[in-house]
Amino acid sequence: MRTIAIVGGGFAGSITAVHLMQQADSPLNIIIINNRFPLVKGIAYATPYAEHLLNVPVSSISAFSQHADHFFNWLHKHDDFKDIPAETLKNSFAPRKIYAEYLDTVWATTLENKSEQVNLQVIEDEVINVIPNNDSFNIELRNASPIKADYVVLATGNAIPKNIPIADPSFYDSKLYYKNPWDDACMQGLKSKRDILIIGNSLTMIDAVISLQSKGFSKKIYTMSPHGFAIMPDATVPLYGRDILSEIPRPYRLYDLVKLFNKHMKRCEREGISKVAVVNSIRYQLQNIWFDFSTEDKRYFIKRVSSIWNAWRHRTPAGMYDRISKLINAGKLIPITGRLVSLTEKDGYVEARINDKKANKEISLDVERVINCTGSQIDVQLPGSLLNTLYTAGLIDADPLRISLNADATTNRVIDRYGNISPNMYTLGNNMKGILWETTGVPEIRAQAENVAIKLLEQIKETNPLSSPHYS
Ligand SMILES: Cc1cc2nc3c(=O)[nH]c(=O)nc-3n(C[C@H](O)[C@H](O)[C@H](O)COP(=O)(O)OP(=O)(O)OC[C@H]3O[C@@H](n4cnc5c(N)ncnc54)[C@H](O)[C@@H]3O)c2cc1C
Repeated sequence: MRTIAIVGGGFAGSITAVHLMQQADSPLNIIIINNRFPLVKGIAYATPYAEHLLNVPVSSISAFSQHADHFFNWLHKHDDFKDIPAETLKNSFAPRKIYAEYLDTVWATTLENKSEQVNLQVIEDEVINVIPNNDSFNIELRNASPIKADYVVLATGNAIPKNIPIADPSFYDSKLYYKNPWDDACMQGLKSKRDILIIGNSLTMIDAVISLQSKGFSKKIYTMSPHGFAIMPDATVPLYGRDILSEIPRPYRLYDLVKLFNKHMKRCEREGISKVAVVNSIRYQLQNIWFDFSTEDKRYFIKRVSSIWNAWRHRTPAGMYDRISKLINAGKLIPITGRLVSLTEKDGYVEARINDKKANKEISLDVERVINCTGSQIDVQLPGSLLNTLYTAGLIDADPLRISLNADATTNRVIDRYGNISPNMYTLGNNMKGILWETTGVPEIRAQAENVAIKLLEQIKETNPLSSPHYS
């Protein structure tokens, strides 16, 4: 019997396992090894805060791309949502905690209905190495004996944010610095005697502000990033009604796209149409666009365009935007556009020096703690992670932009440091960022999870044709 080991049991790893359990028609062993965050929910949906909302409307966040209404149908039967009119519910942004309940139901239903020929084992541990052994792998765990598998799926998900360069990086050992914004420790033991500094000005920052408020934090919250407050409200807007990409030739070039966008944004202004409609109109073409870009275009995009693009693309529900705007207007939340100069631990507090671009001077803040909300950043060269160990061994490589892993976009198989597509190691989600760009949200991950499962089952059949139902 073949064994598939899935490293990471967040949304990506567990939905891959769901597809394997639903579709396997011959004996199969599935092992999920997961640590730190709860199985199925992962970082995003394990939040204890009821006010943390999904940033994708109910109609677009089913766990299954083939069943677009799967989440909506479940939610519409939920006691707290059953009285909301269908169209209103479809366009709303549900709490992430509720989405976690839905994922738990998907998981439990799959386990109930799985074939007896499929074994599932969930191990709560950390994978510290994956060592090839002929055609299979020995998977080393931090706290238990190694396990053997024929195939590995790297579903390691979000990486903890990187430290920002500062004058004296020894500060980063301070207890007043919280590097992992998804660890609830950042919200514990708040004193509310001094303000707080959040590094980062995007969606993770909003989560942190909401959490701080729900913990009763009463002082000011400063947020800072080189491009300033970069969040826009999301709401249902009418379809744009034009296939704007048909106006430019393929392969798509960044220059042509920027021109095209400017043209349509101006049209929106003239005709009173929401500009968001233009962004939405290409939402499901973004991987094709990225795929067409030359490496130079991709580099230029990341350096010069991505901050403004991300603001348009990763919006927050309108209600949440209003709440954040009110805090800003009340002077409780103060977004700074600037660069961090230094962070220094003083007697029970942190002195933060920031080059404030708008004020055109260096400012100093005394804060009770600093929380890094700059978001997931994968760097296979950074020592101390499984991905770094695999990179050092040559099993995986960085993508050409060095923002994720190198992988084959069609099969989701990793590409090793010698340029070979691995025959038996797959990846998905955040690890595909450099290859697909648009790859971290549920709509993309669910499709990749299905793809990985189908490819694995096809491969198992090819290598063992007797296992096909035709012969059994
Ligand atoms: C706070 C937050 C909110 C988000 N909200 C939304 C949203 O509203 N809508 C949307 O579409 N997307 C959202 N996203 C995007 C999100 O990344 C995806 O939706 C999805 O949840 C990612 O799942 P994942 O399994 O790839 O990663 P993760 O959730 O990060 O799960 C990875 C799991 O693998 C484990 N792991 C990693 N390395 C190892 C190892 N070596 N050994 C064992 N286990 C390991 C981790 O500890 C973790 O449990 C959000 C992301 C975040 C961070």
